[in-house]
Amino acid sequence: MTARLLDGKAIAAALIQEIRAEVDARITLGQRIPGLAVILLGHDPASSIYVHNKRLACEKSGVISISHDLPATTSQADLLALIDQLNEDPSVDGILVQAPLPAHIDDETVIERIRPDKDVDGFHPYNIGRLAVRKPTLRSCTPYGVMRLLETTGETLRGKHAVVVGASNHVGRPMLLELLLAGCTVTVCHSATRDLPAQVAQADIVVAAVGRPRMVKGEWIKAGAIVIDIGINRLEDGSLAGDVDFVTACERAAWISPVPGGVGPMTVATLLRNTLEAATRHD
Ligand code: NDP
Repeated sequence: MTARLLDGKAIAAALIQEIRAEVDARITLGQRIPGLAVILLGHDPASSIYVHNKRLACEKSGVISISHDLPATTSQADLLALIDQLNEDPSVDGILVQAPLPAHIDDETVIERIRPDKDVDGFHPYNIGRLAVRKPTLRSCTPYGVMRLLETTGETLRGKHAVVVGASNHVGRPMLLELLLAGCTVTVCHSATRDLPAQVAQADIVVAAVGRPRMVKGEWIKAGAIVIDIGINRLEDGSLAGDVDFVTACERAAWISPVPGGVGPMTVATLLRNTLEAATRHD
């Protein structure tokens, strides 16, 4: 079997066009243009690329991007004060603080300071909790973007066995909740999981979010499975690789998302979708 490609780049571009049409419709109706504040601390090269892509997507979708590029030495108190100010600013619908943050800043304190209705990353415990009780509001961008990729396969998700490799707060755990909401039976694997290949071999849907290049091998994958690769790993030669061994996985999977060009663009498009949704709620 040769897997069909889940072309996240093309699907995300179509989503951005849809958002653009909705933003244009708002303008026609005399409504406010949605605004996204993007905060970047320091000059980490990967973070700078992610932030650049997010600002570019704002431009394409017509959402106003408000940039706050701060030095890496910014104190936590100053960052929290900026978040407080953006929380109160009616022209700002969404606030994004690009991770990773410098070591002197506590990620969770920052996430919890963002007002849940402006938490367009969908990381705040309130928004994760809403998803957990099947009443989603703003949904974590990467897992929600994955659900849209899965939709495009046209396959029924309900009843399928999904195996998520990775259990982080921002990726693996909300991914579990999204798949559960879609009616999948979900297994979540982490660093203490025994016999990972045997777990993956049971999956109709494999979602890899570990951060280890090509760790999930093609021979682990059940023939005909859908394989979603969330991992983004920079190799020594500067190229990018996912968490799945793409070449061998293509021989067994029915569908597979590539890296780059799979989940990454979906994450960005979902961020814009969330910003538009936040603006609609703020109306
Ligand atoms: P974290 O490092 O926060 O979490 C990694 C998870 O993998 C942990 O739950 C860890 O387990 C688990 N893990 C580590 N080693 C193993 C192992 N040998 N077997 C099974 N599980 C293991 O990473 P993130 O969740 O933040 O990110 C994961 C990947 O996704 C990264 O490559 C990141 O760059 C990428 N990413 C991509 C995005 C996109 O838009 N495409 C967005 C966000 C992230 P434990 O909990 O036990 O420590």
